[in-house]
Amino acid sequence: MSEQPRVEIYTKDVCPYCEKAKDLFDEKGVEYETHNVTGDEELFEEMVERANGRTTAPEVFVNDEFIGGWEHTCAMDETGELDQKLGRLAADGGTEPEHRRLIVSGSGIAGLTAAIYAARANNEPLVLQGDEPGGQLTLTTDVENYPGFPDGISGPDLINNMQEQAERFGAEVQNGIIEDVDDSSRPFRVELSNGDVYTTDALIAASGASARTLSIPGEDELMGYGVSTCATCDGAFFRGEEMIVVGGGDAAFEEANFLTKFAEKVYIVHRREEFRAEDYWQDRIQQKVEEDEVEIMKNTEVVEINGTPEDGVDDVTMVRNPEGHPSEKRDDPETEEFDFDVGAVFIAIGHTPNTGYLQDTGVDLDEDGYVVTHGGKGGGQTETDVPGIFGAGDVVDYHYQQAVTAAGMGAKAAIDADDYLESAEQGETAAAQEGAAASDD
Ligand SMILES: Cc1cc2nc3c(=O)[nH]c(=O)nc-3n(C[C@H](O)[C@H](O)[C@H](O)COP(=O)(O)OP(=O)(O)OC[C@H]3O[C@@H](n4cnc5c(N)ncnc54)[C@H](O)[C@@H]3O)c2cc1C
Repeated sequence: MSEQPRVEIYTKDVCPYCEKAKDLFDEKGVEYETHNVTGDEELFEEMVERANGRTTAPEVFVNDEFIGGWEHTCAMDETGELDQKLGRLAADGGTEPEHRRLIVSGSGIAGLTAAIYAARANNEPLVLQGDEPGGQLTLTTDVENYPGFPDGISGPDLINNMQEQAERFGAEVQNGIIEDVDDSSRPFRVELSNGDVYTTDALIAASGASARTLSIPGEDELMGYGVSTCATCDGAFFRGEEMIVVGGGDAAFEEANFLTKFAEKVYIVHRREEFRAEDYWQDRIQQKVEEDEVEIMKNTEVVEINGTPEDGVDDVTMVRNPEGHPSEKRDDPETEEFDFDVGAVFIAIGHTPNTGYLQDTGVDLDEDGYVVTHGGKGGGQTETDVPGIFGAGDVVDYHYQQAVTAAGMGAKAAIDADDYLESAEQGETAAAQEGAAASDD
């Protein structure tokens, strides 16, 4: 097809997923029009009407056909359907898998740091971005604790800078989700969800962790219609409304703090008495409580979200028990159940490591699915049980889960991978020399 498809993306100010959608089309070399709905009521109404009532951005259209938000666009890209709609030819099938010296799964801060180090060591890394290009940091506007930025830096800027730095040294960053790794022979075979296949001498797993959800009635139906796992992406859509943040860790407190910019009031709903959030966040939120911008609801759980995609969230059903974990004590006479009016629900209850693609390999995963690395002192800390496969960042580290620690592990993994590739090469050369000597005899 030679005719250019018409791609339209409805966006808004401060919208990490809008940037991801634009990046996706940029990578494909496809031109698009953007319609920024921030402050433009008429355009916003037009978007909602064309997007079947959806109120979040981005919303993507190809040749007037509604594709959906980032998650739908990405899912369609994975299956190759998006390329078909764009009139792009499918990847050339039937050829030998492309071979790479080193593949990095994930373009979060761990993967990109690994890519910088690996590219500088001439290991020509191919970084596959997964379904969240740039990783979790693209969801935050302020990173104030990454060293070297005394005034802080936005997550997307930090990630863009790192990607630019990695590409300057020759790293290749591509769209692609790894679905399966076959480690039964060398080189490893790496299969992507769009059907593409690579072989590689080494793999750095830097695939991070994904936001957990509650699995309660109403959650799936209203996701994108008033339920969200990303306050920075969607908070501004619910300006002037009361909002709930579910969770008790740093992410929940940070999201609640951010949402006070827009909300009439923010309610932090936590199933226990104690919070896991660090003191800094607890102090900051306490200040907001005193200013009546935040209210904390302890020993309380949301058990149902009520509303419709057309009208968004009406209210939530909650349960409360003075001993905590009330949803497990529904029959306890101390458990009270009540409905609560809110405009939006933000879920911030932690993460699940993205390790499905390693499940059939010899890589040891712990009971929660995190990659187990050898750790300890000296070289090889990021090695897994499969020589040639390394782990870095939040996919390994369920404890620190910080940008700087993920970056540090990314650097270690690239150095470990370089040592591995070099000794594998030396082993091959020695074997070849032995073979040649034997045939001379
Ligand atoms: C809202 C928010 C705010 C935060 N703020 C801060 C902060 O201020 N300071 C701080 O230090 N930390 C902060 N963090 C934590 C920090 O973002 C994480 O610790 C860090 O991003 C972890 O980096 P990572 O590269 O290990 O994983 P991630 O950032 O999770 O990146 C994982 C990457 O792997 C990719 N991937 C997943 N599955 C596959 C697959 N099958 N194939 C290929 N690729 C795959 C994903 O698409 C993604 O690109 C914040 C986190 C959140 C959610």
